[in-house]
Amino acid sequence: MNQKKSKNNSISGIVLIAAVVAIALYMGIPATGQRFLSRGEKRIIHKSGSVMYVLDVADREDSLVLRKKSYDFTDWQLKSPEFTTLASKMLATVQSDQQGGVGIAGPQVGINHRVIAVCRMDKENEPYEVYANIHIDSLYGEVSLGPEGCLSVAPLRGNVPRYSNVVISYKDPRSLSEVTEHISGYTAIIFQHECDHLDGVLYTDKADSVYVNESWMEDRRPYKEKGLYEKPEWIARIIRKTGSE
Ligand SMILES: [Zn+2]
Repeated sequence: MNQKKSKNNSISGIVLIAAVVAIALYMGIPATGQRFLSRGEKRIIHKSGSVMYVLDVADREDSLVLRKKSYDFTDWQLKSPEFTTLASKMLATVQSDQQGGVGIAGPQVGINHRVIAVCRMDKENEPYEVYANIHIDSLYGEVSLGPEGCLSVAPLRGNVPRYSNVVISYKDPRSLSEVTEHISGYTAIIFQHECDHLDGVLYTDKADSVYVNESWMEDRRPYKEKGLYEKPEWIARIIRKTGSE
């Protein structure tokens, strides 16, 4: 009887190892700096409406997540339906009436992964585009002060020093090829602001002055009255857990 039990144990051990190897071959093993989406992040992606809850730095639990560093997606995750859903919801959120921003980064919607959606003001018709596994390779040119706001730092505004040119690299989620691009002008500033979010940095850390933007508050009032900035309890639970990890 003991022998049979030990034989059964070794068979289930082999089955378990084979299953782990099969999953690793299928999904890949995260490289340094990469991470799979957590269960909480997947829940936020699937359960959120097309316009996602945007984290607010004035909320202590939100601020802990906004201050975390973000990870790259694995190739497998970039090809997954979760990434496609996240990309479309981030695009809808940043362009929504109640947000109306020119850029948004993963941590602002509770996803500590390197993804941003930005308005390409340097392209015809100023399309909004999503960039995954984005990194700033270099910054160059003139440094000048300019006003910035942030969907997570409402209702403030501040003057921030930024470079006029940026070289970014990112991964195309369809071809999985690495892309490098030189960007200049105001769009370069948007990229710098959004990429800072991925390192847990907010523009207020760099601003030489910060002030209350009264018109932003006024513009937001009708949406605030409708409760559109309130944090759903199910998201609060995920954010609390993510912030404490
Ligand atoms: Zn921001």
